[in-house]
Amino acid sequence: MTDHRALSKGELILKSFGIDSPKQIDLEAIAFELGAKVRYRKIDGSEARIVGNGVSAIITVNEDHKATRQRFSIAHELGHWVERHGKGGFICAKEDISPQNDAAKSAEAIANGFASQLILPSYLFDPIAAGMPITLDSADKIRMAFRAGLTTTALKLVKGTGKAAAIVCHGLQGRQWFALSPGWPEYMRLAAELNYETEAFELLYAADKAGKTTLRQEAASRWISGRQGQELKVRSQSVKLADGVVLSVIAVT
Ligand SMILES: [Zn+2]
Repeated sequence: MTDHRALSKGELILKSFGIDSPKQIDLEAIAFELGAKVRYRKIDGSEARIVGNGVSAIITVNEDHKATRQRFSIAHELGHWVERHGKGGFICAKEDISPQNDAAKSAEAIANGFASQLILPSYLFDPIAAGMPITLDSADKIRMAFRAGLTTTALKLVKGTGKAAAIVCHGLQGRQWFALSPGWPEYMRLAAELNYETEAFELLYAADKAGKTTLRQEAASRWISGRQGQELKVRSQSVKLADGVVLSVIAVT
């Protein structure tokens, strides 16, 4: 079957380098070919930055961060470079560089969308994800191949399914963000509050709990409000991330 979907800018770049497997996505080499050198330094007050003169640029990422976070930062800064954002450069804060923020039309959101496609290009991601259940376990398997972060990968998995699925992130102050799959019915409402009967709730509030829960089937009412919640079942799985927030992926069965 021919794929008639228009390729994203990130995918076009990868294809122009002849990349046909996840492990070939060498971001430093790609950056170099595009005129940007990557360096690793201790940086305070920002997540990453790019300084350029129109022809060449230097991307600086935090040397203390883990590799998946550094990769997303490099790809994000490359997004600013490719899109010609700003005159001399860009300094990006932690909240600017986040895969879930790609819907707005701001320069940061555009750079995040570009980064997601450079790290997890659909033309390589979709064939691997096809047929996999929409779970954090699947996202974990896929992200290893792409050296991507769990949030970025799980988000792409949810956004790519025709089934009813959602990804939601809770902190101690409440729900931080969520995204619904294209297959999520418009009339169905994700519960705004985290239900106390979920394992996600336990993970969030118990200081000694960490890691990822085992996939479980449960009443949808724990995740979906209204009548649909009473009638359906969901499969859910949650994980506590390094900054203490809990990420959950749910799929209606
Ligand atoms: Zn930025």
